[in-house]
Amino acid sequence: MIDATEAERWMRDALDEARAALDHDDVPVGAVVVAPDGTELARGHNRREQRADPTAHAELEALRAAAAALGSWRLDGCTLVVTLEPCAMCAGALVQSRVAGLVFAADDPRAGAVTSLFDLVRDPRLPHRVEVRRGVLADASTALLRSFFTSRRYTPQRQGARVDEWGGLENR
Ligand SMILES: [Zn+2]
Repeated sequence: MIDATEAERWMRDALDEARAALDHDDVPVGAVVVAPDGTELARGHNRREQRADPTAHAELEALRAAAAALGSWRLDGCTLVVTLEPCAMCAGALVQSRVAGLVFAADDPRAGAVTSLFDLVRDPRLPHRVEVRRGVLADASTALLRSFFTSRRYTPQRQGARVDEWGGLENR
């Protein structure tokens, strides 16, 4: 697992990547995959609205790019650094990809599947478990998400996203 200093360094990159989602009006979530040798393998950000794809979360974008770069679905020894606690889909993908570590920033109390609602990546019933570091630069990620949700004008057709609660994250 990468140390606390490295985790913060990579989280800054993940936050930069998250900001790229703002260019296409997607919820700003970003992810970086760090190789076992401590170099960057791939990164990705949320493109759900841009692609009209329910699976285009930052984590899956980054994992797909990392696997393509390696030419292997197995991401042994890699660490995924992401600005928001992964949902059930992405937590499942982390287990499937066999990553060694997960670093995340803000908790997602409405959909998080690593701490908040479930703990899929450390469930002993599954064949692979992931080491977790939680809360790295969480305030910066929370500020970015809040500014996104409060700056948008919501209309009923925007899938129920609301400013009035942190549950705006359900729109990610
Ligand atoms: Zn997800």
